[in-house]
Amino acid sequence: MRLAHLSSSLPALVAVGLIALVPRLAVAEPTVVASIPPVHSLVAGVMEGIGDAHLLVKGGASPHTYALRPSDATLLNRADIVFWVGEELEAFLVKPLAALGGGADVVALSKAPRLKLLAAREGGLWEEDEDEHEHEAGGDHEDEHEHEHEHEHGAHDMHVWLDPANAEVMVEAIVATLVRRDPAHAKAYAANGASLRGRIEGLKSEIKATLAPVAGKPFMVFHDAYQYFEEAFGLKAVGALSVAPQRLPGAKRLGELRERLVSAGVGCVFREPQFAPKLAETLVDGTPARIGVLDPLGAGLKSGPDLYFRLLKSNAEALRNCLESKPAG
Ligand SMILES: [Zn+2]
Repeated sequence: MRLAHLSSSLPALVAVGLIALVPRLAVAEPTVVASIPPVHSLVAGVMEGIGDAHLLVKGGASPHTYALRPSDATLLNRADIVFWVGEELEAFLVKPLAALGGGADVVALSKAPRLKLLAAREGGLWEEDEDEHEHEAGGDHEDEHEHEHEHEHGAHDMHVWLDPANAEVMVEAIVATLVRRDPAHAKAYAANGASLRGRIEGLKSEIKATLAPVAGKPFMVFHDAYQYFEEAFGLKAVGALSVAPQRLPGAKRLGELRERLVSAGVGCVFREPQFAPKLAETLVDGTPARIGVLDPLGAGLKSGPDLYFRLLKSNAEALRNCLESKPAG
């Protein structure tokens, strides 16, 4: 508050010739940019009461298909801190971030210490691909599966925020960065971080209770974004419609998906608001499976500290509602 007061007396300072001091005093908190809504939400939670963070990928956009706008570039150029998940998710940021001067702290949260990072699953039909899993463990699948490698999604599953334990680790990394960059607010960042982690603990128990009745019930998703959520809460996705969100499956693959859908007794196919619903509709047509909606990002949610919590809760509710009801057929 003292700083705010000082900046409001700026004309007086100018008048007494202290202009050189003004920029430093007037900047009360760093300019912070976050890539996607869930990351922005955690950052906004840590900065609550201190300042606002800017969000790049808004509304219904997907980081997989996003193109940087000129206004985003301007924003990045004046950023003190940029939080993103990492180059395997927000490919659109790789070049712009590399072009920034050394002034900004660029923090890839997927590299946060103690964060759980899973390997990307391959092929989009997971349960029966035992061979591929063995290859994966041996790390020698590169050549054999070159033809279907998805470079947009890379070697790691980057949807790390969907495990609440990872969100807690991310909060710690966000606090550490802000404290280093803006030590004047260290106490407030630390206090916000502690209360956020407490809220996330509560969220974990709440979601566990919501999802307990549908644990192990097979479902399919639009793209392979929910592995962390599945592992955290004992869920069983058996496949993804699209190997990469920006590439739609052909007729052969649709046939395989439909076969798996029937053989695995899939009760629900979840589409995503970031992508057209037609594919999911085509797949379930003539089968007993229902369509639900899962969203890894929070397309319809208001950005801010609560988004992360609403996002995970609404996905848990969507899974429960769809998987709990009896098949339509
Ligand atoms: Zn994705």
